[in-house]
Amino acid sequence: MRVYADNAATTKMSAAAISAMLPYMDKIYANPSSLHSLGQEAKEALENARERVAKVLGCEAREIIFTSGGSEADNQAIISAARIGERKGRKHIVSTAFEHHAVLHTLDKLKKEGFEITLLDVGEKGIVTPQQVSDAIREDTALVTVMYANNEIGTIQPVEEIGKVCRERGVLFHTDAVQAAGHLHIDVKKQNIDMLSLSGHKFHGPKGVGVLYAKKGIALTNIIEGGAQEKGKRAGTENIPAIMGMTAALEEAVKNIDTNAEKVSAMRDRLIDGLSRIPHSILNGDRENRLPNNVNFCFEGIEGEAMLLLLDDMGVCASSGSACTSGSLDPSHVLLAIGRPHEIAHGSLRLSLCEENTEEEIEYIINAVTQVIFRLRSMSPVWRDLTEGRQQFVIR
Ligand SMILES: *Cc1c(COP(=O)(O)O)cnc(C)c1O
Repeated sequence: MRVYADNAATTKMSAAAISAMLPYMDKIYANPSSLHSLGQEAKEALENARERVAKVLGCEAREIIFTSGGSEADNQAIISAARIGERKGRKHIVSTAFEHHAVLHTLDKLKKEGFEITLLDVGEKGIVTPQQVSDAIREDTALVTVMYANNEIGTIQPVEEIGKVCRERGVLFHTDAVQAAGHLHIDVKKQNIDMLSLSGHKFHGPKGVGVLYAKKGIALTNIIEGGAQEKGKRAGTENIPAIMGMTAALEEAVKNIDTNAEKVSAMRDRLIDGLSRIPHSILNGDRENRLPNNVNFCFEGIEGEAMLLLLDDMGVCASSGSACTSGSLDPSHVLLAIGRPHEIAHGSLRLSLCEENTEEEIEYIINAVTQVIFRLRSMSPVWRDLTEGRQQFVIR
């Protein structure tokens, strides 16, 4: 049996996405900047995709820019807001301690340029409050950037209320909605969002393509210089096949958003209940305000990498922290941000589901994880110290 439970890292492409891409590879393959009729057909497809994405997000087509993915969209949104702020003498940015590295590392870069960055505490539940945002905004704040849903622990942030605070205070608001798109409702106008990032491969679309929504009137700064594509704001020949695939995947995900959420959250809850029965385990992130597909646990006395390898042997594809942090020996910044101590943060497991998972697979995962934890603990000197009282349990 092979069970894929790493959908927060990436998803399988849907049949709808694949078939939407194919004609733009071998039939309407021309460059949309070409003046001939085949180029114009590609251009029409591109503009049609832009309108469809805009419709899904509740904005205008001219407010949509296609990028190479979520990371690029995050970079462009933040750099643009920083440049706008800088021109008015505003060099302060508010964000959270548990953003994706595409956001955090861009903020680090700005910090080296003299920006001041306030990273809000997300508490044990992994949720920031609009009040915290309000308290952090200053006269010289150029931007608030808070993710819609966290990629490791799945907690959902009150973006609409945060957006409202930002509007009232005249500060730009960006949200990294990469984990939310296709899973949670998005309406940028209603939710007071000025800029938003999403990525095709997190909702059954292709990799290497994403969207930056920027409210009209926001002067974007180029990250990639070159040709005049995307109204001069993002150079490079448009990846039409990927854009068509992403658009089809987004529409499909949004069409089924409620039925999928109901089905997937039932499996999530069963998985959480099953894993909670493992002694000295703890769910990371608020149980209520979380993505329908996210499960994230810490297990005392466990080393995450060993757990993942044994799970892989049993056919379970999972992750500890995010795909971006794995491979480094540092514990997840997200788990540290919610106050998990280092030794516990190392023993984390993220299982992220999709509507194609089955109840049978959920039972299989519960059994596999339980077995792996018992096996690793039986071999662990740390576990012996804990059970024999030479060391204190962190998770009771
Ligand atoms: C995956 C992810 C990204 C990066 O998107 P890419 O398209 O892979 O560059 C950014 N933010 C969050 C929250 C993500 O989950």
